Amino acid sequence: MEFEMLIDGRMVAGADRLEVINPATGAVFAQCARADAAQLDAAVAAASRAQRGWAALDPVQRGNCLRRLADALEQAGPGLARLLTCEQGKPLATATREVAGAVHALRFYAGLDLPLQTLHDTPERLVLEQRVPLGVVAAITPWNFPLLITVSKIAAALCVGNTVVAKPAPTTPLTVARFAALAAPILPAGVLNVIVDANDLGARLTGHPDVAKISFTGSTATGARVMGTAAEAIKRITLELGGNDAAVILDDMDVRLAARKVFDAAMVNAGQVCLAAKRIYAPAGMIDALCAELAALAEQTVVGNGLEQGVMMGPLQNAAQFERVLDLFEDSRRCGTVLSGGPVGGPGYFMRPAIVRDLPDDARLVREEQFGPIVPVLAYDDVAGLVERVNATPYGLGGSVWCADPARGIALARQIDSGTVWVNTHLGMPLDVPFGGAKQSGLGRENGIEGLKDLTQGKIIAVAR
Ligand code: ADP
Repeated sequence: MEFEMLIDGRMVAGADRLEVINPATGAVFAQCARADAAQLDAAVAAASRAQRGWAALDPVQRGNCLRRLADALEQAGPGLARLLTCEQGKPLATATREVAGAVHALRFYAGLDLPLQTLHDTPERLVLEQRVPLGVVAAITPWNFPLLITVSKIAAALCVGNTVVAKPAPTTPLTVARFAALAAPILPAGVLNVIVDANDLGARLTGHPDVAKISFTGSTATGARVMGTAAEAIKRITLELGGNDAAVILDDMDVRLAARKVFDAAMVNAGQVCLAAKRIYAPAGMIDALCAELAALAEQTVVGNGLEQGVMMGPLQNAAQFERVLDLFEDSRRCGTVLSGGPVGGPGYFMRPAIVRDLPDDARLVREEQFGPIVPVLAYDDVAGLVERVNATPYGLGGSVWCADPARGIALARQIDSGTVWVNTHLGMPLDVPFGGAKQSGLGRENGIEGLKDLTQGKIIAVAR
């Protein structure tokens, strides 16, 4: 299978090629076009040329383009879901939901706009606020939800009149390349460009003088580099970075129900979610029963090739991440008690869900973001000490509280230093609710009107009467 890039309205071969591995087999299954610096520059130039014309369209016309794109994506859905499973590893049913999520995002943003606001209208003066698109937006995305995150960024940026150069992660470029092929006949040339690299063009893209805004989702370490590059030209940035979310169970919660919920919150997408539950805290008296339930759920999880029926958890997405999670697993065996899980013999990057107890707070699995199917279960005695431990992290992305009495949940949620804290759920993210991190988990917001505002800048027009 060969996959091309979208530059200036045309699908093009790359200056080079990239081999794409299926993580369930560990073998190369497709070739993707790979850009060189000249192709990246051509993509930015095309986006730059197209921007004024795109911004000048009526928002309804832009919305119609996004709707046509949603229809095309929906039609291609079944094939794309299979492709997503092959490149990312997730089970087909989950991949199908990801494609549906991308379709939903396109339709959601198709109906949005930031119209002119009147701030003052008096006999003395008229003050208007216009939201102006920023220009060319670079959308840089990771390998955990390659299609959903990239398409959501594209739809949001386009709906308010920006043009886009998108760069998916090098290990999962294929579904985005297919999306680009669907977009080519629908969008005016240059409005969307998709380039693929081998982790070598990120800095050139973020540092490009004609890129006005960087919308980045990825690790905190890479986010810091993006921020550094953006500083020179005072570029606008939105950073969605790592997390180390705590899921806190209160003592009025049913143990079985709690186990089911936090297990799913931790193991969703094989734990490869910035917002997955990465530390589970439970009252000391509940730990034994909770761990027994969690270990049973781990044993029941069917791990395998996501294309096979009945598989509940796919492989880790790439070899580097697999090695990193195995390293954390070995470290956890040394300083805690591993109740279940661990690596499955190859081929493929498979690991069974691991539940770890008896770890000290300074264990690597507690302090670091694991981004894999392994989770520590930690005991607490009183809520005051708990809050301190939950907040003792440079991250502040999400978190959840599980309880019978929602008022207790809200009271604790208010003390957790994160961008989002859920009560009796984890990971619900409607597109009209702003989302983003506190502390080193990010900067700026996506989704909601606040997210759209971050893709524009306010301009005041003040008239003396
Ligand atoms: P990981 O370490 O798990 O691969 P990253 O945060 O490094 O995650 O990657 C997220 C995205 O950022 C990918 O598309 C990657 O190619 C891109 N990227 C990597 N390095 C840079 C950089 N210096 N500037 C901009 N983007 C980069």
